[in-house]
Amino acid sequence: MIVDFHTHAFPDSIADRAMTQLQHEGKITAALDGHVSSLLKSMDICGIERAVVVSIATKPDQFASILKWSGSIRTERLIPFPSIHPTDPAALAHIDEISRAGFKGIKLHPYYQDFVVDDPALDSIYRRITERGLLLLVHTGFDFAFPRRRIADPIRIRRVVDRHPDLKFVATHLGAWADWSEVRQWLIGRPIYLELSFSLQYMTPELAFALLTEHPAEYLLFGTDSPWVGQAETLAHVRALHLPAEREAALLGGNAQRLL
Ligand SMILES: [Zn+2]
Repeated sequence: MIVDFHTHAFPDSIADRAMTQLQHEGKITAALDGHVSSLLKSMDICGIERAVVVSIATKPDQFASILKWSGSIRTERLIPFPSIHPTDPAALAHIDEISRAGFKGIKLHPYYQDFVVDDPALDSIYRRITERGLLLLVHTGFDFAFPRRRIADPIRIRRVVDRHPDLKFVATHLGAWADWSEVRQWLIGRPIYLELSFSLQYMTPELAFALLTEHPAEYLLFGTDSPWVGQAETLAHVRALHLPAEREAALLGGNAQRLL
């Protein structure tokens, strides 16, 4: 079974507008149109059984609408991760609400939410996410749509997981986008989930192979960041690496099935 651990979609009423704006801001052409129906169609074409659909609350007051929409798209195949905003005064109560509603995880994005990943101000949030047994998927590394700031880089991620050893931390983009030598130094070999979306096309196959074979197999996750990148394209990138079969199977879906 193949599981895409990192996708985005938008409510039909805002998808077209949101995608136009985000493509313009990021100077990127998306592979899909941001509608849930298109994601499902792409999954069918690629043989992807399930997808984690992550949302980002760019303001505290988006919590409720994201939670509601996440509930409305949840199926056997789509596993939504709602979001809280780190400055939300009700953040802890909202984490409880996400947990009570049966969701499996939460997404945070240091650039869109303007925080530094190892800021002690977030410790109570990380603690509550750990206590509720939720997964935490965080945008890590630089972001192509923003000026480069070291707010979610590997040494900071390492500090977070060292302070919260039971937190199931999923670092996206193979640990930290465009900062892979630091990933090797600080994260490889540690109990941190590395999801590989938006990374293989930015590095040599040799580096990709090294990172994906040096890290513990049970901590690797397949993701695409669809609609920004095509699912078929990312799947082809992974298969072209010819990873050991057992490792590839764990990465493509085995680990995700266990976590979800
Ligand atoms: Zn993403």
